[in-house]
Amino acid sequence: MRVLLVEDEEDLARQLQESLVDAGYAVDVAHDGEEGHYLGANEPYDAIVLDLGLPILDGITVLERWRRDGLATPVLILTARDRWSEKVAGFDAGADDYVAKPFHMEEVLARLRALVRRAAGHASAEMSCGPVHLDTRSAKVSVDGQPIKLTAQEYRLLAYLMHHQDKIVSRTELTEHLYDQDFDRDSNTIEVFVGRLRKKLGVDVIQTARGLGYRLAPPGGAN
Ligand code: CA
Repeated sequence: MRVLLVEDEEDLARQLQESLVDAGYAVDVAHDGEEGHYLGANEPYDAIVLDLGLPILDGITVLERWRRDGLATPVLILTARDRWSEKVAGFDAGADDYVAKPFHMEEVLARLRALVRRAAGHASAEMSCGPVHLDTRSAKVSVDGQPIKLTAQEYRLLAYLMHHQDKIVSRTELTEHLYDQDFDRDSNTIEVFVGRLRKKLGVDVIQTARGLGYRLAPPGGAN
């Protein structure tokens, strides 16, 4: 899962970025509205965290432009406490949820998880595929009840496939949603990660759709 964070306060941006990375997201950070708007319009994110008070372009304008151009990515806005009118303006501009500053990081993470899974059509924070179980709250994975230790990259890969279960996900799509913009992308690395993940899971849930990509499905399924 890849997230765009648009926040001009350096310290807060750094804290948020660290927490998001720890929670298993690939994160791009923009420090003003113009850069944020550009990235959001040109890179495929699974969710966006958008501060409203931003230099160059304010957050409401950024959000209005994205929505006007048809961007459907879930957006969580960061608002000033006690400014009810800002929240209303944010929702009217196309926000999906908000957190008022100052906030607890856990709340931002929980709201973001909810937005990402709802956008992918999942109601629950826990997801399963056959014997493989993934808990998005703790970023923990188990197979037949046994915990499996995954690297951040492997977790991100499995989480993306879990969110898009039964659908063929191309290597390009995976590359775009697993790495931040500074990562040296090479679609071959996806194959390497898939190989490692298959080995660690030890069960056959990641199917290769030749020439198309991968699909997560319970083992032993006919298709
Ligand atoms: Ca700000």
